[in-house]
Amino acid sequence: MFIPKNEKLSADELRQVEAIAADSECSILEIEGRNRCVYAILGDETQEVMFKRIAGLPFIRKVDRIESPYKLMDRRSALADHRVKVGQVEVGKDIPFVIAGPCTIDPANPNLFLETAHALKDAGANGLRGGVWKPRTNPYSYQGDNKSLEIILEAREKTGLPIDLEVMDSAQLELAVEARVDVLQVGTRNALNYSLLKEIGRLSAGTDSAVLLKRGRHVGSPNEFIAAAEYIVAEGNPNVMLCPRGTTPALDGYRNHPDESISPLLKTKTWAPVVVDPSHSVGHSDYVKACSLASIAYGADGLCIESHIDPAKGIGDDPKQAVKPEKIKEIIEAAKLLWSKRYQP
Ligand code: PEP
Ligand code: MN
Repeated sequence: MFIPKNEKLSADELRQVEAIAADSECSILEIEGRNRCVYAILGDETQEVMFKRIAGLPFIRKVDRIESPYKLMDRRSALADHRVKVGQVEVGKDIPFVIAGPCTIDPANPNLFLETAHALKDAGANGLRGGVWKPRTNPYSYQGDNKSLEIILEAREKTGLPIDLEVMDSAQLELAVEARVDVLQVGTRNALNYSLLKEIGRLSAGTDSAVLLKRGRHVGSPNEFIAAAEYIVAEGNPNVMLCPRGTTPALDGYRNHPDESISPLLKTKTWAPVVVDPSHSVGHSDYVKACSLASIAYGADGLCIESHIDPAKGIGDDPKQAVKPEKIKEIIEAAKLLWSKRYQP
């Protein structure tokens, strides 16, 4: 990977580097950060001569040879000062970044979603989540509906909140990118679906869409999790957020094994913001506040919490694990108090 002296290489400079890389059967990928571009060298990186030739070009500031399976996600990479922005807010700056909303939008009751969205805005949420297409363990459970995309877009327009929804395949991804969905969520089941991760990176490259990558329920090490995020960044979208959401097997009494405790580990390995999902971690509304505050204490930059104005009327996970917007307000206030004392690497 290398960074140019200026914010971006000119077309002619890029051609010069590409020619050097091509001599070693490598290619160059331009990755647009918020402040400047960085360039990844793709191919066999053991090419000493190629590195020396690139480093010797007058317009190159620095060539990094980080030996890591996730050299772009690595804290030592040229992207280390990259900041992820969702809507107008820089994630992890000044306040805990809180996305909240129903697990699943009920297309038969759009008003329930719209009222929830307004209540969450009043509660202080920074983003609105809502499941349009749902990955359901039971193939006969409700699977989602394109109509819900219209509903969440209307909620964004009316509240001004950026929106987050999960995409599971190319068709959904294309619709979401076209609608300029602010946060593309990759669920736990697809966390290691490398083809989908690459496609998300490619289609959202150069857009304002961020990606919330959930930790796979069976993903072992934090390294494997960060390497999955690397697939997205290496296709051109550096706006990734890492989301621990509990692993399997569960702790007896919780839906999953809460894993907010890996937040400090992630934050020492990578620059990417950590946004914990306490709702799927514990799977019960009674424990969501404790898990949220533990996440902030552990150094998480934000939270993604399931919330509904009337959980009993919700579908999907909402009757079990959604908290009401009043509780979101309480969590946000408590999280803000903890914020200055949180772990920082
Ligand atoms: C969800 O966010 O509603 C969801 C299905 O999450 P996960 O992929 O973490 O199970
Ligand atoms: Mn859910």
